[in-house]
Amino acid sequence: MNRRTKIVATIGPASEDEATLRAMIRAGMDVARLGLAHNTIDEGLERFHRIRKVSEEEGRRVGILVDLPGPKVRAGNFGDTGVDVPTGSSIELRVGEAGSSADVIEVDYEFLMRDIQVSDRVTIGDGGAVLEVTDKKADKMLANVVAGSTLRGRPGVHIPSDRLQIPTPTPEDFVALDAFVDAGVDMVAVSFVRSAHDMRRVGTEPHPRGPLLVAKIETRAAVDNLPGIIEASGAVMVARGDLGNECSLEDLPHLQKDIIRQCIAGGRPVITATQMLESMVTSLAPTRAEASDVANAVFDGSSAVMLSGETAVGADPTNVVRTMSRIARRADEEMDYPGWARRLAEMRMTDRSESTSVTDAMTMAAWRATQELGVQNVLCISGSGFTVRSMARFRPEANILGFSVNEATVQQLTLSWGTTPMLMGKGGTNEEMVAEAMRLAKSAGHIRPGELVGVLAGSDSRAQATNVLRIERVP
Ligand code: PEP
Repeated sequence: MNRRTKIVATIGPASEDEATLRAMIRAGMDVARLGLAHNTIDEGLERFHRIRKVSEEEGRRVGILVDLPGPKVRAGNFGDTGVDVPTGSSIELRVGEAGSSADVIEVDYEFLMRDIQVSDRVTIGDGGAVLEVTDKKADKMLANVVAGSTLRGRPGVHIPSDRLQIPTPTPEDFVALDAFVDAGVDMVAVSFVRSAHDMRRVGTEPHPRGPLLVAKIETRAAVDNLPGIIEASGAVMVARGDLGNECSLEDLPHLQKDIIRQCIAGGRPVITATQMLESMVTSLAPTRAEASDVANAVFDGSSAVMLSGETAVGADPTNVVRTMSRIARRADEEMDYPGWARRLAEMRMTDRSESTSVTDAMTMAAWRATQELGVQNVLCISGSGFTVRSMARFRPEANILGFSVNEATVQQLTLSWGTTPMLMGKGGTNEEMVAEAMRLAKSAGHIRPGELVGVLAGSDSRAQATNVLRIERVP
């Protein structure tokens, strides 16, 4: 079986050169993520164009996801070699952007003194170090290091999101958004979303004309407002790093499962992110627990699993992608497809508008027909990609070939579970579209003469919903 779960890999100093990008694409990177927290827009755009160039040269589609940093509060630079902040030591916190040390942490948030109180716990990095504030003076706070760590670079400083005074997206996010939308980015992730309104504020054209918007679920408010956020988004990310700061760690695995379940019911791809193979930042093999985490994220129903520091600053980004790809493919093989099918009722679309209901029913019918007939390929012809994403939520054992005449849609389908995105040159009648999709799938070696395939499409290229399902023998 081919790997069905997609891999998102973050590009950073360890992976930005052409040779590494090429090797990562060959190893299985489906979507490249550009974080902007540590780079200028121009540096990000340079990476963007390099990824496009290498992916074209390789003849393999790679989606590009730009991650807007949002109101992320950061500590002043600890340097690249790292500073040991030991458990039990005392440390000062103050507003500023100069360097940090084992004695003083500067924090780039002007309301720090107002929003953090004595006895608050402040987390630095994704759970790296935990401080407890013991005293507050006019211009600084004193804290005890409850859990020490070695801190590097400019780690995030967690301010509870209900106290954070900065809106999302931030003015800086909007500047970056304009630059990347002009460049033709495929997907944009929005950080620290608290409500559906935050997603609507992004204000880009609806996908596929605009980018597919990915809501990062990393605040308590986002968990509380999840149904509205899912409806206002094209996809969702379970951003476990910051979410793990906002809620208790023992709740995190259950939140992950619940968020994924709700995304499946909404027909939205969902990415499970952060620390999946964290030890591989420095080691050549993952821990047993990390291998299980990736496999369990697949079993939960993740459309994609994500690498962050492992590929951005890690020792061997290509090896990490290869390792994740092996673990995910094995988990795809072992996935409980019959069990998934028994829970079909939970996967029906929750939005009951007419076109959604038609697509919901048609993709369900396609799933049932392909399972019963043992069909190995289902060709979905779609304008916006909605039909393809709807099909993917049923986790069919058949390969999904996702066709569109729209290049942006095809790029956005790189994130969809089990989907091979394919561009088709022309629309036309249902008959013409089906013939063209079969011709392309055959010449790309995905289907063979004589085999039965399922084909889902509209009655013609202007149809508002997918309303024709055909079972055809490949000529
Ligand atoms: C996270 O918090 O898990 C996350 C993915 O966001 P970032 O990497 O931007 O902190």
